[in-house]
Amino acid sequence: MKNIYSNYIDDDLWLIKETEWIKQLQNIRESQLSLGNGYLGTRGVLEEIPSNALPGTYISGIYDKMISQVPELVNLPNPFNFRFTVKGEKLGLLTMDTIKHKRILNLKKGLLVRNTLYQNTKKSRFNYQSIRFVSMDNKNIGVMQVAITPLDDNCELDINTGIDTSVYNAGVLTEGRKKHFRIIELGQQKNAGYLALETLGKQHTIIYWAGFYYQINGKKNYAKDNIFRLKLRKNRTLLLTKIFYLKRFSPNGNLSKYKHESFKEFYKIFHTKFDFLINKHIQAWDGLWKKSDITIEGTANLQQNLRFNIYHLLICLHSDDGASSIGARTLSGEGYRGHIFWDTEIFMLPFFIFNFPECAKNMILYRYRRLNSARQIAKDNGYKGCQFPWESADSGEETTPGWAKDLDGTIIKIHTHQMEHHITSDICYAIYKYYVVTNDEKFMHQYGLEIIFEAARFWASRVKFNRKKNKYEIKRVIGPDEFHIAVNNNAFTNMMAKWNLITAHRLFNQLKNRHPAIFKQLQKKLLLTQREVSEWKKIACLISINITKDRVIEQFDGYFKLKKIIPRETDENGIPIISHRLKTVDLNKTQLVKQADVIMLLYLLSDVFSFETKKQSYEFYAKRTLHKSSLSPSIHSLMASKTHNLYEAYHFFNVALRTDISNLFGNTKEGIHAACLGGTWQTVVFGFAGISIKKEKVNINPVIPRSWKKIIFSLPWKGNILKLQLTNETIMVKAISRKKKLIEIGIFDRIINIRPNKNYLFKRKRPILSADYHY
Ligand code: BGC
Repeated sequence: MKNIYSNYIDDDLWLIKETEWIKQLQNIRESQLSLGNGYLGTRGVLEEIPSNALPGTYISGIYDKMISQVPELVNLPNPFNFRFTVKGEKLGLLTMDTIKHKRILNLKKGLLVRNTLYQNTKKSRFNYQSIRFVSMDNKNIGVMQVAITPLDDNCELDINTGIDTSVYNAGVLTEGRKKHFRIIELGQQKNAGYLALETLGKQHTIIYWAGFYYQINGKKNYAKDNIFRLKLRKNRTLLLTKIFYLKRFSPNGNLSKYKHESFKEFYKIFHTKFDFLINKHIQAWDGLWKKSDITIEGTANLQQNLRFNIYHLLICLHSDDGASSIGARTLSGEGYRGHIFWDTEIFMLPFFIFNFPECAKNMILYRYRRLNSARQIAKDNGYKGCQFPWESADSGEETTPGWAKDLDGTIIKIHTHQMEHHITSDICYAIYKYYVVTNDEKFMHQYGLEIIFEAARFWASRVKFNRKKNKYEIKRVIGPDEFHIAVNNNAFTNMMAKWNLITAHRLFNQLKNRHPAIFKQLQKKLLLTQREVSEWKKIACLISINITKDRVIEQFDGYFKLKKIIPRETDENGIPIISHRLKTVDLNKTQLVKQADVIMLLYLLSDVFSFETKKQSYEFYAKRTLHKSSLSPSIHSLMASKTHNLYEAYHFFNVALRTDISNLFGNTKEGIHAACLGGTWQTVVFGFAGISIKKEKVNINPVIPRSWKKIIFSLPWKGNILKLQLTNETIMVKAISRKKKLIEIGIFDRIINIRPNKNYLFKRKRPILSADYHY
């Protein structure tokens, strides 16, 4: 039978396919096939909800902590819920024989399309097709259409749909499953179902509307109820269309007003044609891809996987005046309870800064709106300025749980919130990046500088002067490598703090000279004196790290004295395997590292270190890193690129790229790894495409894998858009601009002025030699 949705699945380079149903992969597929629009995220659960399915419907920023130790992203009722039965037999992958099953996620159009052929106990077959989307055009709606055709007999079909409220948060460790909402009202009005609920802590009210209509032979009938029976003729297709609407409202408001307002919005959409809704949605997606697609002329598989990563970034795209940001597992699962870590600013933000600056701004505003909480955390810990929480949810208070599972499954106490202090400078680093790329001075004046200055204040109070050594030190921290706890002078933390202090000092003086009126206002608001700011620079100059004669940075004081273990064996993905004799609790006695730490530092502050230091340190730590965090491979790829080790750059890129599509870390079922998505994008753009920003200027110097012919993408730069086509020998560039001004860019490390809206082709003078670049 013809696939009635074949028009929606016609370009292979944009499709992710599930070609058979494997029960054990169910929860992984649910994360991978998630749909969303940044406001709303839904897991790709099968609509018949087989047992062990984990339906997940989340609204960005809706957390609750009434019955959990820390706030959790609330799993809301599931609107993608359909139950069909014929004489008591349920159409479902577990309940009937499945002759054929396929689901396709169309990344370009944001659509999930399904075709399953069932056979019941009487050997009657049913062709089941469906399509669904969460609208990118109207963030409050989602649509699902199901087409059922009995192939062998006439039959009576029982239909049961509606909003499934039997969902729960999966629950972590000792807490178990839990429902974070209660229903406060439900009803029916003009063929539509209504549901109002509030989170247990009464911080949010959410309203749902859903309605559906069915068509046989084209005639449209609105269903009056969620449960009803229809007679179907053999080979005649029944088409059911369900439209749902959901929206958050502030708590304790006037419910009947909310109900009235939301119904008006829903009713209009409910009576809009399906084709119109889907086309608007596809158009919106088209606009997003025009800005953010990266074409790699190489293998099809790689292209699909890269788009899969970008797709998952795009379904996080959201702007709500800083009310919410993006959690470590996006809106595709409950891993890390939806909390926001440094993953957001360091890994994801660059993608948004370049492609969707409005969204990047929102992510920074999320921190700004919680600056008072960060001030309170600093104060409670005996420091000045602001200290951002290691894990954050809605209020901006620290939300790191007290306990978590270690690598070996044992339950251990968590210390990150007490010691992983680098997050405060990571946020400032991201703000500064946003500014360099966008030139958004207004934003800096209103929000950015205040955070950077308050963070510098924090570091000035956090450091301790060591008279003997004539140095400022930062003791008892956890660096990105979380195997080693309470270490002194972690190179990453020290250098990022130093960067924060120096940058704050420079921006303070810059503001004073360039914008005296704004300077005065800010100075008054923060009670900042020139003396205090000069002190920042003095402190920064006396913060240092240890580097050996061989140019290897010591990760923290005493690290080199730890037991040297270099894993020799790797798994099928090239990730080191450690001997089972080494106990997890003993990892801190060794030089083994959880994830990029010094290597992360070399990447973020690349300009500060010589090529030799980068190369030697990269080689030293790459051998000792176990990649027990999905944040690690992409950064290794980037530093391998920067130290001309193309072989490893490509290897680590592949691990990052396939993290979720191949479930490499074994926990994709808990949601897509947000940091890895952003990290993968960075490996292509800042690694292979060789985009770098030096002294606030962009430079392009591609060194791409030999199996790729070309990389094609657009890069917004200071209000212009650079359209790029890159090979190892050539750079084709056209700067799209509304202005006539010449645009200064670095091409193969030489500064060149190009005219706007004109095509340029530059050739590399000296070819890339395998001797220079370890291919
Ligand atoms: C990593 C952190 C990361 C967090 C959330 C941890 O396993 O070590 O660096 O922020 O996961 O992704």
